[in-house]
Amino acid sequence: PSDREVLTWELLGEATRHLAQAVVDSGFAVDVVVAVARGGLPAGGAMAYALGTKAVGTLNVEFYTGVDQRLAAPAVLPPLLDTDALTGLHALVVDDVADTGETLALVRDLMAQHCAQVRTAVLYAKSRSVIEPDYVWRRTDRWITFPWSALPVVSGDTPVARAVEADTVALAAEPGADTG
Ligand code: 5GP
Repeated sequence: PSDREVLTWELLGEATRHLAQAVVDSGFAVDVVVAVARGGLPAGGAMAYALGTKAVGTLNVEFYTGVDQRLAAPAVLPPLLDTDALTGLHALVVDDVADTGETLALVRDLMAQHCAQVRTAVLYAKSRSVIEPDYVWRRTDRWITFPWSALPVVSGDTPVARAVEADTVALAAEPGADTG
């Protein structure tokens, strides 16, 4: 018996179709999908396809640093969304989970300053969330394992790894370099 709630890639497909159907059934005409990066990107992209819209934006917000380890408050990170482009639109904000709900509340309030209407959709909602999302696939109070963050960061031949490697090699080759 696991103390974690596990989302598989397969279930993500089911969840996003279910959420898109709920949005359509509610009569909310979505002009733009705003996915909260990074956790809301897979769901936001899948929902944009399911809703038949190419208008997708992302807002990058950082809050968690580990399992149940949070910063004091969620913070918007660059690159920033061009909010002028949202003026007067009906926006659907998509995220993976409303846990404390602080991230979703921040994004909803930011979007509401520009959009005509803002609604929120999440894969999961927890009971402590400060906001009740408009569309929820499942409810849980457990820590959720998502397929995109379940594995360690890829190591080896990535751009970052290559840059680190190149720097290290250059330093070592420099005559008299103090490698300390
Ligand atoms: P909140 O602001 O609602 O507390 O959570 C913001 C973000 O933290 C979520 O979008 C998600 O990326 C991350 N997070 C919160 N709860 C969980 C969880 O149970 N599992 C994982 N993997 N991430 C979580």
